[in-house]
Amino acid sequence: MTTNDADDRRLLVSMSVGQTAYAVWAKQARRERFFNIARLLEASAAVKRVRAEQAMRRLGEVAQTLTNINRALAGLEPEAAATGPVTGTSAFQRELLERAARALADGRDLTYTELGDLFVCSTCGRLMEGDPPAFCPECGTVREGFLDFRIVDGMGTLGPHAIVRRLEQGLKTVQALVAGLSEEQLAMPVNGFPAFKDLIGHLTDMDIVFRERAWMILETNQPKLSSAHPPTLRSAVKYRTMPIDELIEQYTTSRQQTLGLLRGLTQAAWQRIGHHEIYGPVPLLHQGNWVVAHEQGHLIELAQMRHNMLYGHNRVIDIAQEILHP
Ligand SMILES: [Zn+2]
Repeated sequence: MTTNDADDRRLLVSMSVGQTAYAVWAKQARRERFFNIARLLEASAAVKRVRAEQAMRRLGEVAQTLTNINRALAGLEPEAAATGPVTGTSAFQRELLERAARALADGRDLTYTELGDLFVCSTCGRLMEGDPPAFCPECGTVREGFLDFRIVDGMGTLGPHAIVRRLEQGLKTVQALVAGLSEEQLAMPVNGFPAFKDLIGHLTDMDIVFRERAWMILETNQPKLSSAHPPTLRSAVKYRTMPIDELIEQYTTSRQQTLGLLRGLTQAAWQRIGHHEIYGPVPLLHQGNWVVAHEQGHLIELAQMRHNMLYGHNRVIDIAQEILHP
């Protein structure tokens, strides 16, 4: 092994672990509602992934697909070596992380004025902010080769059709999740907090907030979206005493109204803008992705709670309640 190989091996291991670390940290930042900081961490994870890929190719660990598949079947993954110091973070990346640290010191997310659109060159891993150049200043790759981490995509990149489909699917999923569980089980707090019923009431609360925002964006000119926090999960404790049928009916009624507002909207309508304090000017599409992502997180929690109740497993449930809804 040459010195270069040893360096590349260290780089491969360090960047691979780094990629996982930044990706998980990004997920956590989303739970804590620091969505712009999450975007920075996601871009940083992409930088690490590209650098790991470069090191892997230099090491000759990438062959023709047939060889790679045979190698995967034989369980022969690239060999890991002890990590050592690696200069994996550029001065610019550190500057962005310091911006995040300063915002967090105030207990808040970065705003759109503090963290612009981010781009990562998929060839060399260079991180860029703001309007992307036509060519990567480091390796000359064209702009089409950049990975995008834009503010407007910060809540997800589902299109109108997929958003409507997910909102429809939610109706069936919620029904299936409560099937066969008793009122008592549904009112039982898990890990102290919350209960099944809290979460279903909370999904309705959020559906209403989203519909009101969507209505404002569609009916008024570039409205300011209320920066007040949407209804907290803590305030949803009041739903615990309601019969489940009533909760499901509320959810269904609200969701059908929301779907009624969204179905048949034109592309132009989905691109109408609202002004958000943290994200700046965002299209309705952004808010649609937001409500879908929020609901998805809670549906996963509900599924884990159901599984534990039915099968008595005591798997730790990764509930994000307090941090997700401060
Ligand atoms: Zn480049």
